[in-house]
Amino acid sequence: MRAAIVILGQGALATARRLQGAYPQARVMGLKDRVEGADESYANFGETLRRLYRDDTPIIALCAAGIVIRTLAPLLVEKGAEPPVLAVAEDGSAVVPLLGGLGGVNRMAREIAAKLNVAPAITTSGELRFGACLLDPPPGYALADIEQGKRFVSDLLGGDTLRIEGNAPWLDELDLPLAEDAAHTLRIDARAEGIGQHELRIHPRIVLAHVTLVDSQLPERIRQGLAQAGLAEASLAALIAPRCRMADPALSMAAAELNVPLRFVEQDATLPAEVLHGDSFHLHRAATPLEAQSIGQPRGRLSVIGLGPGASDFMIPAVRRALDEAQDLLGYETYVKMAEPLRDDQVRHCTDNREEMQRARHAFELAASGRRVAVISSGDPGVFAMAAAVMEALHESSDPHWHGVELEILPGVSAALAAAAKAGAPLGHDFCLISLSDNLKPWETIETRLDHAGAADLAMAFYNPISKARPWQLGRALEIVRHHRTPETLVVLGRDIGRPAEALRVVTLGELVPEMVDMRTLVIIGSSLTRRFPRAGGGDWVYTPRWYR
Ligand code: SAH
Repeated sequence: MRAAIVILGQGALATARRLQGAYPQARVMGLKDRVEGADESYANFGETLRRLYRDDTPIIALCAAGIVIRTLAPLLVEKGAEPPVLAVAEDGSAVVPLLGGLGGVNRMAREIAAKLNVAPAITTSGELRFGACLLDPPPGYALADIEQGKRFVSDLLGGDTLRIEGNAPWLDELDLPLAEDAAHTLRIDARAEGIGQHELRIHPRIVLAHVTLVDSQLPERIRQGLAQAGLAEASLAALIAPRCRMADPALSMAAAELNVPLRFVEQDATLPAEVLHGDSFHLHRAATPLEAQSIGQPRGRLSVIGLGPGASDFMIPAVRRALDEAQDLLGYETYVKMAEPLRDDQVRHCTDNREEMQRARHAFELAASGRRVAVISSGDPGVFAMAAAVMEALHESSDPHWHGVELEILPGVSAALAAAAKAGAPLGHDFCLISLSDNLKPWETIETRLDHAGAADLAMAFYNPISKARPWQLGRALEIVRHHRTPETLVVLGRDIGRPAEALRVVTLGELVPEMVDMRTLVIIGSSLTRRFPRAGGGDWVYTPRWYR
C-alpha cells in the first residue's frame, strides 16, 4: 500500500520511519525547510493533505487530530469512497483512526498500534464488539449492500443474534453473537438474488470471466452472463484474456468498468471449472476466493521518462508517478540516483551510458513479462537520450509481446530549455539543438549543420560539447560558427543546471575558449540579435527578441 506519512517537524521523523517498517511502500513527506531527510518534501500542508485525500492515498498524519479534521473538513461530503486517514502522535504514543471506516482504517490503526506498542483508539461500535468491521470484509470478499449492512450491524449491536451460512476463514477470528435459532443470517455466497431482509450477504470473489472475443459491449455482456448464472457482479475476481490481446484498449476499459484486475494467460492455461459458456467469454468458478495476482500476468508497462535537469521541482508530476510505480528502473547510474527517493523493493538495473540499445531491449523483456519498468534519462528522453533507442528496439522487433507492452514517453525539461530559462530567453526566437558528439554520426555532418545553422542566423544549443575522448571538436565547431557571427555574439554557458553545483556564465564568442566548457555544460550561441542587459542582483539577463529586422 502506497500510504503517505505526513510530518510537520523533525521530531516526528523517527516515528515516521518506524511506521515505514509496517508499510515499506509508504513515503515520508516532510514540510519544506522544517524537515530534513524525508523521502519527499511539500510546501503547503493543507493543499498536500487535500490532494492526497482526493487521490485516494491512505494518509497517516503525525500531528494533532484536530489539524487533520479542519484541513479535510471541506472535502468530507461523500463518505463511503474515502481513503483511510489516521492521526498519530508525533512521539508514537497514540493512534487515532479518523476517516475511511470502509477503507480499512481500523485495520491500519491496529497494525500501526502494534508497531508502536500502544492501543489503537478504535471507536467504531461494531468493530469493538465483534473484533472487525463486518462491513469492510478483507480482500477476496465484497459486501453486497452497504445500507442493508448498516442496519444488520446495528441490529446486532441492539442485541440480536446471527447464524452463519457458508464459509470464510476470517469469520472464525471474530467474536460474534452466534445462535442456532437466530433470525439474522450472515451468508457467504456468490449468488446475487434472494437476499433476505435480515441477512448480511458477503460475496466471495470466486468467479473469473475468461474473454475469448473482445468487443465494446463486453462489460454489459459479462454482467448479463453473471446474472444468468445467478452470480453477483461483486463475485467477479478478475477478467482473464489471452496474452495476444494485451494491447486491446477495449479490454482495459472493460476491466476498469467492472472494477476488477485484468490478467493475461496463454491459450492453454488451466482455469477453474466452467459454469457458463458465452459467445465472447466463459465464466469459471473456484471454490475459494481467487488472488488475481497469481493468475497469468498483467500487461506490463514501459515508461520512458525524462528527469529534467536535476532539481525535483523541474520534474513533471507524471514522471514522479511513473517512478513511484516502477518495479524496475534502468539507466545510467547517475540518473538512477537522481531519480531518488526510490524504495528497497524497486530493482535498479544500472548500466554504462553507452549500451543504449541493449538497455532498451532489456526494458522490453522486463515489461513484456508484466513488470512496470522505467527507463531513465536526464532532461528530455527524446533529446539525445533513450526514447529513440526504445523506439528503434521496438521497430526492429517482431515479438508480439514487446508490441503488447503499454509504452509511454514522458517528457522532461531539456538542458537547453533549463539553461536558457536561467539566463533569460536566449532561445526566444528560432533555434536549433545540435549534439557535438561524433560517436553516432560523422563529423562532416556536424560541420555541415553548424555551417547552415550559422548562415541561417539560428541560435544554437550545443549538447555533448566536449569530452576527454572528443577534445578538439568544440574548437573546430567554433571556427565554423565564427565565419557567420561577430566576436560580440553572446554565448551562455550553463553547467550542472538544476543541480547543486549549478553555474551560469555569459561570455562573447570572441572570449569563448574550449577550456571554459566540459561535458556537463550546455552551450548556447546567440543569434545576431541576442542581447543582454544588467540584472539587479548582478550579472546579465540575455534574450533573443521575437522580432526580426
Ligand atoms: N536528454 C538530455 C541530454 C543528454 S545529452 C536533455 O534533454 O537535457 C548530455 C548533454 O546534455 C551534456 O553533455 C550537456 O551538454 C547537456 N546537459 C545535460 N544535463 C545538463 C545540466 N543539468 N546542465 C547543463 N548541461 C546539461
